[in-house]
Amino acid sequence: VFQLSVPLNFLGSVYRDLKQALLDMENLFQLQDVKVKIQDKPDAKPLQFQGGEIKFENVTFGYHPSRKILQNATFTIPAGQKVAIVGPSGSGKSTILRLLFRFYDVESGRILVDGQDIRDVSIESLRKSIGVVPQDTPLFNDTIRNNIRYGRLEATDAEVEEVTRRARLSNLVEQLPEGYETKVGERGLMISGGEKQRLAISRVLLKKSPIIFFDEATSALDTETEKALLQNIHSLIREQNSTSVFIAHRLRTVAETDKIIVLKDGAVLEEGSHQKLLADKNSFYYNLWESQENLALAEELEEEAQVIE
Ligand code: ADP
Ligand code: MG
Repeated sequence: VFQLSVPLNFLGSVYRDLKQALLDMENLFQLQDVKVKIQDKPDAKPLQFQGGEIKFENVTFGYHPSRKILQNATFTIPAGQKVAIVGPSGSGKSTILRLLFRFYDVESGRILVDGQDIRDVSIESLRKSIGVVPQDTPLFNDTIRNNIRYGRLEATDAEVEEVTRRARLSNLVEQLPEGYETKVGERGLMISGGEKQRLAISRVLLKKSPIIFFDEATSALDTETEKALLQNIHSLIREQNSTSVFIAHRLRTVAETDKIIVLKDGAVLEEGSHQKLLADKNSFYYNLWESQENLALAEELEEEAQVIE
């Protein structure tokens, strides 16, 4: 038994490292089409984390030279604050996240985390500080417990269950005959888009990163679940003092943030608190809000009608 346990443990740790690497690389984003390999500078230093301020300074970037996605984008996400990035679909919201993660480097301008140009720090240290709930979360062919634990491999069962409760997924898991040991993924239980999102949120909450991005992370949830879940997320993030960024095009989910950055045509069009942006009836934000409120009202009426049926 002793002889066997050594190589098995070794293999186990390699396997775990591989999975961790996959997660940190955020396989998470559809990375298949990333051709340019970004590498550390020879003298790259670990990121000196000081609270998690993120600055984009005149950032210009395009996936193809002929088409700029971001054009002189300038904004600040203050340390420890809760910030929203909103804008029409295709306006470059997820691109901001990919640039911050250094899947690509900027064409001009710079991105700073706590005052350090991210091209000068090691990619590993940068990615370690940032948790992401991507727009589309991959599940591993493994148990629910292990899928969540990928957020932080050394977390205890109790910690896994606690975040699952906070992500409002625990009731559902506990109803399954095999509970947390239920296999999910392609070869396991098929779970809905909303369940997958709650699993991804559990995972990132377990990671306890000082910076957390939620990229349309609650888009598949119904209004009530989304509201309750966001409250839990906000309170947990306050406890951890993390800087949090909510990328969304549904504005109802971002009204309670400290600051909203409105992106349009690759640049920051407006920014400020929800109240401030709404106060200007000529603002793009005001118009977005108005049109969505009417839509939301219609949706809610529809949801109610379904309940009555
Ligand atoms: P958002 O998240 O705001 O909806 P994205 O940042 O994902 O927008 O995308 C912005 C634009 O960049 C879109 O027009 C999209 O089609 C394009 N885009 C995104 N990823 C790639 C890629 N890997 N290669 C080429 N174009 C891309
Ligand atoms: Mg997006």
